[in-house]
Formats: sequence, C-alpha cells, structure tokens
Amino acid sequence: VEHTLAIIKPNASQEHKDDIVNRIEAAGFSISQVKETQLTREMAENFYKQHSDKDFFNSLVDYMTQGPSVMMILSKENAISEWREMMGPVDPELAKEVNPNSLRAHFAKSILENAVHGSSNSEHAMDNIGFIFGDVSL
Ligand code: ATP
Ligand code: MG
Repeated sequence: VEHTLAIIKPNASQEHKDDIVNRIEAAGFSISQVKETQLTREMAENFYKQHSDKDFFNSLVDYMTQGPSVMMILSKENAISEWREMMGPVDPELAKEVNPNSLRAHFAKSILENAVHGSSNSEHAMDNIGFIFGDVSL
C-alpha cells in the first residue's frame, strides 16, 4: 500500500468533516492516523514554502491558520494519485466541469478556500507525513 497526507482545511473541517470522512472511507482508503490541529503561521509558511513567492501566499497562510484542520494519513494502493483524483482540480469552477463528483466540486468555496489538501508525489507525501505526524511507522 501507499500512504499520503490529506488535510481537511479549516472551513471545510468545521462544516463538512463527517461528509468528507464518509466519502474517504467509502472510496476504500484506510485512515492510518488522524488528528485535529490548528496550524501556526510558522507551520503553514513552512508547509507551503514552495509557494512563498506567489501573490496568494499570505492569503493561503491566513486561510490555513484560521481554525483547526483535520490531518490524516490515508493508505491504499495508489493512494497519492487516487486522493488527488478524489479532491479534483485546485479551482472549484474547473472541478465542477471536469470532475463534478470531486470533493472540491462539492465543498470548495474558491480557488483559495478549496477544502482539501493532498500530497502531489511520493517525496512530497513522505515530507508532508513527517512534518505533521513526526516519525510514524506505517
Ligand atoms: P494542495 O497543495 O493544497 O493540495 P494543489 O496541489 O491542488 O493543492 P497548489 O498549486 O499546490 O494546489 O496550491 C496550494 C494551495 O494554494 C491550493 O490548494 C489553494 O488553497 C491555494 N491556491 C493555489 N492557487 C491559487 C490561486 N491562484 N489563488 C488563490 N489561492 C490559490
Ligand atoms: Mg500542492
């Protein structure tokens, strides 16, 4: 099996947590670890450091620190790409066109407040899992 880091971002974790968790389980993922955490600014800046030169960076850090997020390690064969597929594209308007059943099509409010995060490749997944959960054995 493969592991990936999934985050239900602050607004969505308050409004749609149970709905999203039910969809995750129905899709056959195991939730190997889960915790609810409010990211500090320092953590959010570090987590999204590859975007530090983008014009949306400060808004992204504001969004990610506004309340608690649900952090999960999802485990399944091809978990990384399957979870990205289930999230849908970053922009909810595009998500509604290309993957209307995706989480972002249903639950994202905007390209910024887009409800969920998923690691984009295996190196990113290992980094993300270590950053949020420390040294876990999977
Ligand atoms: P994530 O990394 O959160 O899983 P992603 O890989 O689909 O999402 P990225 O391009 O890595 O998208 O962008 C990281 C996050 O930054 C997005 O999920 C979104 O919250 C925000 N973001 C991306 N592009 C924009 C934009 N043009 N305007 C505002 N916010 C954006
Ligand atoms: Mg990304």
